[in-house]
Amino acid sequence: MEKRIDGHTGLLALFGTPVGHSGSPAMYNFCFQHDGLNLAYMAFDVDIPDMEQTLSTVKLWNLRGGNFTMPCKNIAAELMDELSDASKIIGACNVFVNKDGKLYGDVTDGKGFIKNLSVNGIEIKGKKLVVLGAGGAATAIEVQAALDGAAEIAIFNRDDEFYARAEGTVEKLKKETPDVKVSVTKLEESDKLAEAVNNCDILINATSVGMKPMDGQSLIDTSLLRKDLVVADTVYNPEKTQLILDAEEAGCAAAIGGKGMLLWQGALNYELFVGKEMPVEEYQAFQAEQAK
Ligand code: NAD
Repeated sequence: MEKRIDGHTGLLALFGTPVGHSGSPAMYNFCFQHDGLNLAYMAFDVDIPDMEQTLSTVKLWNLRGGNFTMPCKNIAAELMDELSDASKIIGACNVFVNKDGKLYGDVTDGKGFIKNLSVNGIEIKGKKLVVLGAGGAATAIEVQAALDGAAEIAIFNRDDEFYARAEGTVEKLKKETPDVKVSVTKLEESDKLAEAVNNCDILINATSVGMKPMDGQSLIDTSLLRKDLVVADTVYNPEKTQLILDAEEAGCAAAIGGKGMLLWQGALNYELFVGKEMPVEEYQAFQAEQAK
């Protein structure tokens, strides 16, 4: 790595907090090196109040692009010079590129999540979904699933500051994708949650529950995990959340963790950064080697 870095190296970075657990720097740096690109990727621990200064610095130091993670994805969208259509609907962005001093933001979480399902043999079109969550990842998945033709999307979120966002998402989707049946219900209404899970094809956890320090926790009672249910999680740290472990034990049709979502949204981001496909197979082989 140190042999690659010189006075011309272009910098990209991840912004948010916490970022120490992120796999993004290792992934992009591997791919830059593999593709012979004079670029480097870092992670910076910044919070919402730091974002204005952060993005001024991005311009001042001419960073080439990068990513935003929680809790900075919404404020990032407000601070971009230009946004993709998906980012405008969602009001968030997880990736940006610097186009001659103008920052262009997009959102690839939803597309990456759905690509990961597809790679695992699960198609979203015509399916009934229960999505737990109304934050950045959840909203991106809900919007993308609606755009990709899901039949029903039942959103459940606890009665916190994110609930109103879910109501906003439902309103927007009713307008943008009128054929999709969308609803939002409080997570605390456990009878309604049970009924929705019993009637859905795909159950998705897009909350932070299951992620450290909430590892070992799941929002879904194991009695709801049946054999023809597909279960997917956005959380990738730990790789297998309690929900995924429970789904595996219950013999669910599929139990798909968040690592693949990270990989595939990363691959979409890579294309945005450098204009070519990410060497996904080579990166996966590298990861497998590192894990030994
Ligand atoms: P966010 O802060 O925007 O949203 C957090 C969500 O979790 C909200 O809906 C909130 O209501 C819910 N929540 C938090 N604590 C809860 C609790 N105790 N009980 C019930 N609900 C609770 O976060 P985000 O960016 O949407 O990220 C959510 C999760 O998705 C994180 O674990 C993150 O690591 C993961 N994620 C994964 C990828 C990936 O590529 N795999 C990408 C983005 C986010």
